[in-house]
Amino acid sequence: MLQSKIFSKTLREDPKDEVSTNAKLLERGGFIYKTMAGVYDFLPLGWRVLNKINNIIREEMNAVGGQEIFLTAMQPRERWEKTGRWKLLGEEVMYQFKDRFGHEVGLASTHEEAVTEIATRFIQSYKDLPLAVYQIQTKYRSESRAKSGLIRGREFLMKDLYSFHATTEDLDRYYKLVDESYLKIFKRCGLKTFVTEASGGVFSKDFSHEYQVLSDAGEDKIIFCSQCGFAQNKEISSLDEGGDCSKCGNKLKVGKSIEVGNIFKLGTKFSDAFGLYYTDKEGGKKPVIMASYGIGPGRLMGTIVEIHSDEDGILWPEEVSPFKIHLIALGDKAKNEAENLYKDLLAENIEVLYDNRGDKTPGEKFSDADLLGIPWRVVVSEKTMEKKGVELKKRDEKQAKIITIQELLKIK
Ligand code: ATP
Ligand code: MG
Repeated sequence: MLQSKIFSKTLREDPKDEVSTNAKLLERGGFIYKTMAGVYDFLPLGWRVLNKINNIIREEMNAVGGQEIFLTAMQPRERWEKTGRWKLLGEEVMYQFKDRFGHEVGLASTHEEAVTEIATRFIQSYKDLPLAVYQIQTKYRSESRAKSGLIRGREFLMKDLYSFHATTEDLDRYYKLVDESYLKIFKRCGLKTFVTEASGGVFSKDFSHEYQVLSDAGEDKIIFCSQCGFAQNKEISSLDEGGDCSKCGNKLKVGKSIEVGNIFKLGTKFSDAFGLYYTDKEGGKKPVIMASYGIGPGRLMGTIVEIHSDEDGILWPEEVSPFKIHLIALGDKAKNEAENLYKDLLAENIEVLYDNRGDKTPGEKFSDADLLGIPWRVVVSEKTMEKKGVELKKRDEKQAKIITIQELLKIK
């Protein structure tokens, strides 16, 4: 991609109406545009990052047998009446309105109702189980404090997976599989998460499990053991900071954190409400046992920025970076050389953003490169040409070095 042509430009100043680090850096870098509080547009650079995150999630969901679907945001009130959640969530959570025919409609804040209703058409026998479906889809929530940039949207993406089982043993087996897959996803996104015991919500006496990333930008608080990884959400925990970890004896700490994922055993709450039953081997009729598993890809992106940034900008982990290489041409004499290198990199299928802007000083180009946070910065200038190479610098290192173009093309 040519930097001179991108549908965005870097801003010199932090946007005035943002307080969170992720929103400030992402807006300054031209990754996102704010339409209103908690409602963000994704521009080419931001959309690339979001899609990298989505594809990591997709790969791992497919690996646990998830079938991708796409459900509607618009839903009739009647569907939500079946579980009592039309009133329970109410206008505090759900955007609810009347259409011009007077029908009551809501924008889904989650999809248990929808997916359970649909499943009643396709799950009848134990032979139809287990099953798992997921989507990466836009959710709407009337959040009251949307001040954390991508971390708390009112319109935001969620990956939601739903699983259906005949027995609790089978549910437990699959729940563990998804837990492992979540840990892979967060690791690939460059985040260390604590699997945190949390409230099971209104559905269950059991714990649910949250994936929490320690960060001062977080709105949650967890008590955790840095030795064995045990963690509980402070909301439900009776443990105190400085106390002993019941698993390994180490001292417990308390920290602010961001919930990037949450998995729930739902039991038969939704199957009972929608009449989702299956016939077992003996011909008996039983409710299907369900679980749901959420991740916020946008919240993940915001969290990555909170964790991987410094005073100059973002430091994208390789797998989610919009590009692998930020190629910078300095001075007119280096233009041809840089242009050829850009083509060679593309021919090797290496993702490259080429700063071919003729009207920017080296200082402006370098500070934009730090802001955008692409892991490998490659400079072509008269000086590097004299040394018969290019200058390579990693975003997280201070020292640059000269390497040959052949060496650069081998970077994979
Ligand atoms: P929170 O407590 O932070 O409001 P939640 O517990 O209500 O979140 P869930 O219903 O568990 O959220 O949603 C599943 C996942 O979707 C969350 O773990 C998070 O990653 C993401 N998510 C939830 N709400 C938002 C939001 N307002 N903006 C962006 N992502 C969100
Ligand atoms: Mg949650």
